[in-house]
Amino acid sequence: MTSSQPSPDTSQRFIFEHADVRGEIVRLRHSYATAIAGKHYPDAVAQLLGQFLAASALLSTTIKFDGRLVLQVRSEGELAVIMAECTSNGELRGIARYAETPTATAFAELLRNGTLVITIDTRKGEPYQGIVTLEGESLAQSLQAYFQQSEQLGTVFYFAVDRDTVAGLMLQQLPAQLQRDAEARASHWEHFSTLARTLTAEELLQLPNADILHRLYHQEELRVFPPRELVFKCSCSRERTARALAALGREEIESIVAEKGGVEISCEFCGTEYNFGPGEVSLLFEQALEGGATH
Ligand SMILES: [Zn+2]
Repeated sequence: MTSSQPSPDTSQRFIFEHADVRGEIVRLRHSYATAIAGKHYPDAVAQLLGQFLAASALLSTTIKFDGRLVLQVRSEGELAVIMAECTSNGELRGIARYAETPTATAFAELLRNGTLVITIDTRKGEPYQGIVTLEGESLAQSLQAYFQQSEQLGTVFYFAVDRDTVAGLMLQQLPAQLQRDAEARASHWEHFSTLARTLTAEELLQLPNADILHRLYHQEELRVFPPRELVFKCSCSRERTARALAALGREEIESIVAEKGGVEISCEFCGTEYNFGPGEVSLLFEQALEGGATH
């Protein structure tokens, strides 16, 4: 690389010209670093959060929507909640929550009896939610099982994480259009997905997308789209924080104000601090009493 500019986080789409299959490659450095900065996550948790961020970016490209896609697992394991979201504008954030610092490193142990929930929260209309029991030994396997159940389309996910980079590859069958013959369709899918599995973690993390695609599919005709930029951006705001405060109840908040002279809340995703003085707090509850429709 000759440029001194750090390369932006991106995801890049490609489609096969002669088969109903598409793919996407995502690579995150800055947004991954920002999401885990100052959190003191154990390595296994940080790397898993990296995979969730990459997965939310990949999943957000499989649908047309205006809003945000949230990928979340709740579990009975050491890692109670892990979630990442990607907006239709390519803004990522994510978090892991636990009572005590996890010591497990295996996916199935960290997220024992987990439930995977994919929510698509659009600015208009009801949110869509897909829920499945967590399966397999990795996030990739769980997502493959999810798509097998819900869409009945073959989908392959592959993630790789090192100290400062997380990369992901998704390959997905599209509904039959170019290829109507079921047998040819199945054999193409088998061929392409088998090739995808030959990619090593090092290749996925380090090679430019063009080299990855050449390495896997140089015998195929591909159409490669311009990369989409991804950034870490938290959707928290003073207004949202105020609404969350109001939801905690007047008595509780007023006792904090009486004791500390105000309320200080920091966003768990990005660390931004929001301070509310006594005057603002009472205003908040008066507004809430007037119907609460302050957003
Ligand atoms: Zn925030």
